[in-house]
Amino acid sequence: MRALLVATALVSFLASAAPVPAEEPTTASAASAGAVREVEGRFLAIPRPDNMREAMRRLSARPHHVGSAYGRENAEWLLARFREWGWEARIETFDVLFPTPKERLVEMVAPTRFRLALEEPAVPVDPTSGQKAEQLPTYNAYSIDGDVTGPLVYVNYGLPEDYEQLDRLGISVKGAIALSRYGRSWRGIKPKVAAEHGAVGCLIYSDPRDDGYFEGDVFPKGSMRPKDGVQRGSVMDFPSSSPGDPLTPGVGATKEAKRLAVSEAPSLTRIPVLPISYGDAQPLLAALEGPMAPADWRGALPIPYHVGPGPAKVHLKVAFNWDTKPVHDVVARIPGAERPDEWVVRGNHHDAWVNGAEDPVSALAAMLEEARAFGLLLKQGWKPKRTIVYCAWDGEEPMLLGSTEWAEAHAEELRQKTVAYVNTDANGRGYLGVSGAPTLERFVNDVARDIEDPEAKVPVWKRAQARALADASSPERRKEIRQRKDLRLGALGSGSDYTAFVDYLGVASLNLGYGGEDDGGIYHSIYDDFHWYTHFSDSDFVYGRALAQTVGLAVLRLADAELLPFDFSALADTTEEYLKDLKRLLQRRQEEVGERNRLIDEGVFQAILDPRRPTLAPPKEEVPPHLNFAPLENAVEELQRSAGRYAKARAGIDGRAVPPDVLSRVNALLIRSERVLLSPEGLPRRPWFKHLLYAPGVYAGYGARTMPGAREAIELKRYSEADPEIARIAKALQDEAALADEAAAELEKATPR
Ligand SMILES: [Zn+2]
Repeated sequence: MRALLVATALVSFLASAAPVPAEEPTTASAASAGAVREVEGRFLAIPRPDNMREAMRRLSARPHHVGSAYGRENAEWLLARFREWGWEARIETFDVLFPTPKERLVEMVAPTRFRLALEEPAVPVDPTSGQKAEQLPTYNAYSIDGDVTGPLVYVNYGLPEDYEQLDRLGISVKGAIALSRYGRSWRGIKPKVAAEHGAVGCLIYSDPRDDGYFEGDVFPKGSMRPKDGVQRGSVMDFPSSSPGDPLTPGVGATKEAKRLAVSEAPSLTRIPVLPISYGDAQPLLAALEGPMAPADWRGALPIPYHVGPGPAKVHLKVAFNWDTKPVHDVVARIPGAERPDEWVVRGNHHDAWVNGAEDPVSALAAMLEEARAFGLLLKQGWKPKRTIVYCAWDGEEPMLLGSTEWAEAHAEELRQKTVAYVNTDANGRGYLGVSGAPTLERFVNDVARDIEDPEAKVPVWKRAQARALADASSPERRKEIRQRKDLRLGALGSGSDYTAFVDYLGVASLNLGYGGEDDGGIYHSIYDDFHWYTHFSDSDFVYGRALAQTVGLAVLRLADAELLPFDFSALADTTEEYLKDLKRLLQRRQEEVGERNRLIDEGVFQAILDPRRPTLAPPKEEVPPHLNFAPLENAVEELQRSAGRYAKARAGIDGRAVPPDVLSRVNALLIRSERVLLSPEGLPRRPWFKHLLYAPGVYAGYGARTMPGAREAIELKRYSEADPEIARIAKALQDEAALADEAAAELEKATPR
C-alpha cells in the first residue's frame, strides 16, 4: 500500500521550510571523486523502460496476494532474476495469520429488503479483470467474524471529530451499524472509533466525490473508480499495538515461534467490518432519514445525505478462514568489499491485493532495474565498499507482514549493521516525493539534483522546488523555499515497509516515489492492473526509469561513501520545527476549549437553538494546562550547536586523506545516530513503537505524529503524561548532540591545524 493519493507524499516533501543553514560540502573525500562520478554515470545509463514494462506484464499477470500460487511463482521468478544478475539471493519464509473470507453478507432488512452485490465486475477491454477464480473477494483483512443487525448511521469519515458532531445532533451509534466513507484517515481508524462509540458493525464505502466520477471519467473510459469498484485493505489495529503477524508480536514468525491464540491477538478489530462500492452504498444512504448530514459530510451521490439512525436497518455477516499462510521474502545481497558488516538495505513489496500493477509492481519493476544495473557493474569489476541488501517483501498489504517479521527475526544483527533503509511502494508520473530521516535530508536533496526529469528535462529537484513554489500558501513560505538550500523531507508515518526499520529498529530511512500528475480510483481493486497502468499512469515507464536512477544512485552513494553522508543540521532544524508545532498545538487547544467553555457559559448554544432542528450544546471541558517545554528548548539548542560543530569538522576534512581508523569510528557513530532517538521502553501503551520523534498516529494510522509521546498526550487529553514525555524526548536529543560532538571531535583530531 502507499499513502492513498500521490499528492500526500508530494505535500509532505514540500512542506514548510525554514532559515538557511550554513553551506557546506557534502563529500568528505575528493580523492577518488572522478572514479566515483564515472561509476555513477555508468549506473545511470543502465535502467530501461521496456524492461520495466515487461516485468510489470509478468508480475501482474495474475492475482498475487499472500498465500496465492502466483505470489509464490513471483517470488521464485524474482529470486532467479537476482541470481542471474550475480547476487547472492534466497527466499526467507515466515508463517503468518492471514484471514480470507468464508462468508460475506450485507442486506438491508428494513424498510425494504435487498442484498448488496459485493462484487467487482469484469470489464471486457481489461483482460485480467475476469480472473475471478484467483481474485480475493472484496474484504477488510483482520476484521473479526460477526453476525450483527442494527439501524444504519452515516458517520462521514468516521473520525473522532465526526462523532462529536453526531453527539451534538443527539445521535448515537450504540447498537448501530456505522456507514463510513473512505478517506481522511487510514481505513482501520474507522471501525476502531465506531467500536469505541458502541457500534456493532462497520461498513466503509468509496464515495464518488473522493475517487470516483466527481474527479473524472471512471474506468475503463477514464482512470477513476467505477460504480462497483471496491477498496480492499487491512484494518489491523497496528498503531495501538504493532504491525506484522498478529500472533507473534515482537518476534519473527518462524516455524518454532511461540504464538498467541487468535482470540488473544491484540490487533484484530473489535467489530465486524466490510468495504463496499458506491453502487452498493447508494441505496443504503438513500434509505436513511433523520437530520441532514452537515454540509461537508455530503458526497457526490445524487441523493440528500441524511445521518439516520435508520429507518434503514442492515444485517452484516462475515466469517473468515483464520489460516496461517507462508510469506516469501526474497532477500538478495552483494557483499561489501571493504566494510561487509555495514549494510545498505533497500526494499519494495511484491505481494498485491489483486493484480497490483501500480501497487506495488510499478516501483518493484524499478527496483529490479537497479538490481540488474548493479549486476552489470559487478561484471565490469566494480565492487561496493559496503554490503548492499535488496529485499522484495511479501505480505505488505495485510499489514507489513514480510518486512516486520524479517526485521524482528534479525533485529540484533540489523541494529548492529544497518546504515540506512530505502523504501519504495508505487510510482507514477510527476514530481519526486521523499519522506525520511532528517539526517539524510542533505544527502537525498543532492541525489535529486543529479537526476533529470523525463518530461521537463530539468533536475527532478528543480521541478519539485517549482511545484512547491507554485503551491506555497503564503509569501513567507515562498521566500523560505527560495532561500533554503534543501527541500524538507516529510515525516515517516506508516503504511509501507519502512515501518519496522524506523519505529522498531531505529534505522535512518527514506521513502521515495514520483507522482502528482495523474489521478486514479483503482487502489486495491481488481482494476489496478497492466491495462489500467499502461493507459492511465506512467505508460512509457520513463518515471519508472527516473525512480530506478534516483534510488539506485542513493544506494550506490551510501554503499561507496568513505564517510557516510549523514548530517545533523537538518535534524536540529527539523526538531525545532516539531517543537514549534507542539507549542502551537497546545496554545490552539487552550484557546479553543477556553472559547467554547465561554460560549457555553454565555448560553449561546441555548439561544441559537432551532426547535425544529434541535442540537445539543457541547460539554464543558478542562482547559489544557501549561506544560514545561524548557528541557526540549535546551536540548534543541544543544543539538544545533553540536550539528554546527560536526558540519565544520566535516568541511575541515574535505579533500584530505583521513586515517581509516578515524573514518571507521565516525561511520560507526553515524550508523548509531538514529538508534539514539529510540527508547527501549517504547511509547506509552505501545512498546513496539520505540522512536521518540516519529510514530503513526493512534487515531491517524498512516499519518505521522512527530514527537508522538508529547503530541498525543495533548491530542488525547492525557495531560499528565506530557511533561515526562517532553523530558524523554529532550534526553534523546541531548544524547544525539553528544554523539555529534564525539564524531566532530574525531574528525577535528584528524585535521592538521
Ligand atoms: Zn503497496
